[in-house]
Amino acid sequence: MQETDFIVVGTGIAGMRAAIELAPYGRVLCLAKLDVQESNTQYAQGGIAVALSDEDEICLHLQDTLSAGDGLCNPDAARILVEEGPHRIEELIEWGTKFDRQGTKLSFTREGAHSRNRVLHANGDSTGREIGRALYHRAASLKHVCFREHGFATDLWVEDGRVVGLYLLTDPGQPPQPIRAAAVLLATGGIGQVYANTTNPAVATGDGVAMAFRAGAEISDMEFVQFHPTALYVKNAPRFLLSEALRGEGACLRNANLTRFMPKHHEMGELAPRDIVARAIAHELEISKVKDPVVYLDLTHLNGDRLKKRFPRIYTTCLEYNIDLATDLVPIRPAAHYGMGGVRTDLCGRSSLPGLYAAGEAACTGVHGANRLASNSLLEGLVYGARAATTMASESTLKKAKAAGCTKSAPGNGAGAAADIPLESQISAIQELMWRDVGIVRDGKKLRAAVARLAELRAELPEPRSRRQWEAHNTAGTGQLIARAALAREESRGAHYRLDCPAHNDARFLKHSVILGDKVRFE
Ligand SMILES: Cc1cc2nc3c(=O)[nH]c(=O)nc-3n(C[C@H](O)[C@H](O)[C@H](O)COP(=O)(O)OP(=O)(O)OC[C@H]3O[C@@H](n4cnc5c(N)ncnc54)[C@H](O)[C@@H]3O)c2cc1C
Repeated sequence: MQETDFIVVGTGIAGMRAAIELAPYGRVLCLAKLDVQESNTQYAQGGIAVALSDEDEICLHLQDTLSAGDGLCNPDAARILVEEGPHRIEELIEWGTKFDRQGTKLSFTREGAHSRNRVLHANGDSTGREIGRALYHRAASLKHVCFREHGFATDLWVEDGRVVGLYLLTDPGQPPQPIRAAAVLLATGGIGQVYANTTNPAVATGDGVAMAFRAGAEISDMEFVQFHPTALYVKNAPRFLLSEALRGEGACLRNANLTRFMPKHHEMGELAPRDIVARAIAHELEISKVKDPVVYLDLTHLNGDRLKKRFPRIYTTCLEYNIDLATDLVPIRPAAHYGMGGVRTDLCGRSSLPGLYAAGEAACTGVHGANRLASNSLLEGLVYGARAATTMASESTLKKAKAAGCTKSAPGNGAGAAADIPLESQISAIQELMWRDVGIVRDGKKLRAAVARLAELRAELPEPRSRRQWEAHNTAGTGQLIARAALAREESRGAHYRLDCPAHNDARFLKHSVILGDKVRFE
């Protein structure tokens, strides 16, 4: 049986930052389910928000974060984010991250719902890739940090109510192997792949949330899923993200009649909060008389040379689909983008299970409340990745316990007999259902039916043995958590919009949803 001191599941911004912090205290094993780079972090374009520009103040960043969260941010968590953010960014720069500059000064752009230019970017629109590069370079240079690629964590290892390690699938033909550790950090990233349309890469199947739930940890705020308004919509192409920063630079949205529609929906027009823009687009698509309608992002009035320079990755990707940003309208639709909920943690990254910690998109610190302010998630990964690691180091006695009496947390009730339908179609059925009935606009009746149908779809999945089978269970399990929380929250708030209860209900729901086992409570 293998053992180490700390296991970090995930090599995105949160996992990598945590590993760097843990390195002086013991051996750190970092797991990535594919290669180290493949993560949401790698695809982050727009940038990272931080109050470092001359015109900005920490209190303004806090204010914008709280107002995006629609009453549900944990103010202490948000304050920590904005206060510790500048130092974490300075560290990143020290470790070699090359943010874009104008002359010698850092260059800041503005994104939706930010009151100041405060978003740092790198290589124009490859911010996450550049941060990931610098963090990996730093982490890999540390003696005690080791990376295991294609190391898929299936389940947590729980002993007497404490997480003491996890199970790792390395060889598809073999059962998962236990690895013991003093503390485990889940930094497994997003949940986008639970939906049929998503900006997230294939790795974002909500594994960390699903496995924490199976192990008995509390899961919070899962109903809040941010749908990015502008993903490229070209048949048979991935839903490539068209960063909010494009609208920050002046791009506007036009409906099928080429009329600009955002000003009639919100005073901030195209820079309104994402949920408002996504719903406005969904509305325009619904009322459009065109078959298979789209909405257009229009940048044709902007300086083409500047666009190429500022957004090289977006520009060349669109060109691959014969769309020239400088001269053509870009067909777009919304897509699932970011999960505000996750494994419930305190301000130091502790989950409700001793020995288990979470950070980054897999965690729910309460920083984002009901809706995330654009470009706050990379910052959250940095700030809370470091905080969780500090707590892990200080709380771990590092006494190696014996392996006897281990209880593996079971994969839930989804381990039914193999169905005839190929696995990929089973996964697609889950994703389509989530998109249709647990998507941008929801209602109680459909949500109730979706909860029941998801349980059926999950029961039809084969017993998990391969990585993809585990991902299918995790997709279904995470989908169930989202649908259950969305059904329980009988109001609209932030990114969660219910047609049957379109207003806030502060008296009942100015609270966080918490799921533990078969109960959903609000507190
Ligand atoms: C297209 C796109 C653009 C974005 N743009 C921005 C932006 O401009 N600004 C911003 O702030 N945010 C942005 N975001 C969001 C941001 O990128 C993510 O929230 C953030 O990078 C998440 O970091 P993370 O470390 O929590 O997880 P990730 O970066 O997603 O890393 C997850 C890691 O967990 C590993 N993993 C998962 N499951 C398992 C398992 N079972 N076993 C082993 N390993 C596992 C994966 O292999 C991966 O290494 C964007 C997201 C996308 C998809």
